[in-house]
Amino acid sequence: MRRRQAAAERLGIYIHIPFCRSKCDYCDFYSLAGQEGRMDEYQRALLAHLRETAPMASSCVVDTVYFGGGTPSWYGAKRLRELLAFLDSRGIPVSQVSGASTGTVEFKAGGSVYTELQAGSYLFMDSAYHRLGLRFQNALFIQATVISTAGGRIVTDAGIKCCGVDQGPPVFVDFPSCVPVMSEEHSAIYPSEHSCRPGDRLTLIPGHCCTTMNLHDRVFLTRGGCVMDCIPITSRGKCM
Ligand code: SF4
Repeated sequence: MRRRQAAAERLGIYIHIPFCRSKCDYCDFYSLAGQEGRMDEYQRALLAHLRETAPMASSCVVDTVYFGGGTPSWYGAKRLRELLAFLDSRGIPVSQVSGASTGTVEFKAGGSVYTELQAGSYLFMDSAYHRLGLRFQNALFIQATVISTAGGRIVTDAGIKCCGVDQGPPVFVDFPSCVPVMSEEHSAIYPSEHSCRPGDRLTLIPGHCCTTMNLHDRVFLTRGGCVMDCIPITSRGKCM
């Protein structure tokens, strides 16, 4: 009689690296800025924890380790490699090492521990990421309508209710050097000269793509100035 061997349980391991170079205003992840002096102590604690818990995973196939944070790249590839080597020495070889972000993709070339990059915002980009000089292009825009040009000021109908500004204000594509004043339902810029009239359309690059998407029910896909498709944003986390 043939005995069927039970499939081994698959397991992913999440390792939190709480250190960041600085603390971003909008971030509510558990992260520590200016505490690099505690990294070695934290590493010893992580290794002790892995030593203690590794036997529990002996019957599992550990296919992924995810380094989250915090900023694991600030923690250093040497420490991350030491953690992976430790798992390997305990009979837990890991095939996939996942982590990183759009902002740290550039650090992952050559000598990286990662086999998978968790970049997401690269798809859209925003004005905050654009300031970092990443190689990705902006692909998310807001179409605003000019509602006033009185006194040389351009006021549009695109305010904080349609544009995430938690990482900075949007950029007006036609007036990139003007920092907009944002209110709930309006944005205003003060260019030295312009030819805008009420009713004109202006294109804005949102300050933060994630929180901008969360404010809209639909996103329009365009090519060459033509609308090709319209996709509902169904997972935007409406409050109950
Ligand atoms: S770098 Fe990332 S994890 Fe660190 S404070 Fe900023 S958003 Fe939070």
